Amino acid sequence: MLTVVLMGLLFFLPWLWADSPEEEAPALPGQTEKEEAEASSTVYDSAKMLKVLIDGELTEMDMETYLQGVVRAEMPASFEEEALKAQAVAARTYTLYKMEGGGSANHPEADACDDINCCKAYKSAEEAAASWGVSSAVYEAKIRQAVAETDGEVVLYEGHPVLAVFHSSSAGATRNVEDVWQQSLPYLRSVASPEGADAVPNYYSKASFTLTEFKEIFIAQYPTASLSGTPSNWFSNIHQDVNGAVESLQVGGITVTGGEMRSLLGLRSANFTISFTDDTVEFSVTGYGHGVGMSQYGANVMAQEGKTYKEILTYYYTGTTVGLYEE
Ligand SMILES: [Zn+2]
Repeated sequence: MLTVVLMGLLFFLPWLWADSPEEEAPALPGQTEKEEAEASSTVYDSAKMLKVLIDGELTEMDMETYLQGVVRAEMPASFEEEALKAQAVAARTYTLYKMEGGGSANHPEADACDDINCCKAYKSAEEAAASWGVSSAVYEAKIRQAVAETDGEVVLYEGHPVLAVFHSSSAGATRNVEDVWQQSLPYLRSVASPEGADAVPNYYSKASFTLTEFKEIFIAQYPTASLSGTPSNWFSNIHQDVNGAVESLQVGGITVTGGEMRSLLGLRSANFTISFTDDTVEFSVTGYGHGVGMSQYGANVMAQEGKTYKEILTYYYTGTTVGLYEE
């Protein structure tokens, strides 16, 4: 099937080009870099229009306005300017990556939405000002500067925007993407991350459940699980990576991933240990988020150490560069 398509292209394209001015031909593999540069042009934020679902309402705005809203919502505005810039570039990259891939099946009518389980959070200047209080003028200026000073810039791997996922804080290191989701990507690799309990609020957290509560929650999701006897027998075959993230474990005979346990129990991350008393089961959790890609608190620590947003981004996204987005 692919061969047929390729053969078709081989016959069709030269004929197509014969009628088109050369400089308007799309950039294709096989063209020289010079020809590609002539065929494409940088897309700056003010020229890129997006349709965004905000509170369920379709709103049209440019990329600059959208990214300001995302950075306000996704990263504390008290963070270092270079961390905020890294966040702006990551959010721009993520959005363009999704758009290049055809957008989200959840909302074919919109390029992005404000649901954190689907796209990125979004906060208007008014909403943010209400929560920032006396700092709002300073914070708003920092956010706008982070977006404006990175205008049009994205994280690139082999010339394309990457799946620039990020999370709040890591437990010593970020995670390989295939250990969290199925797909392996060369630029989402585990790297050491510098943030710890001194830099991150609630870096260590605990979640406790009575035995009855835990049974009810788990059996509602996995009805065939066998949870009887003492809780120390409920959990077995716990596989953790070198940094303590739970890859998989058995609960009442059912194999689940650390990520599944995290979402089922509302844990802050999949990096946890389990302990028991006679009537409770307790999860001791490190870090916050899925652990893949850029750590936001790690980015802030790196910025405090004098790293630039480009150094932060190319550190967390392995083998990438930061450059202007061309269309
Ligand atoms: Zn969405």
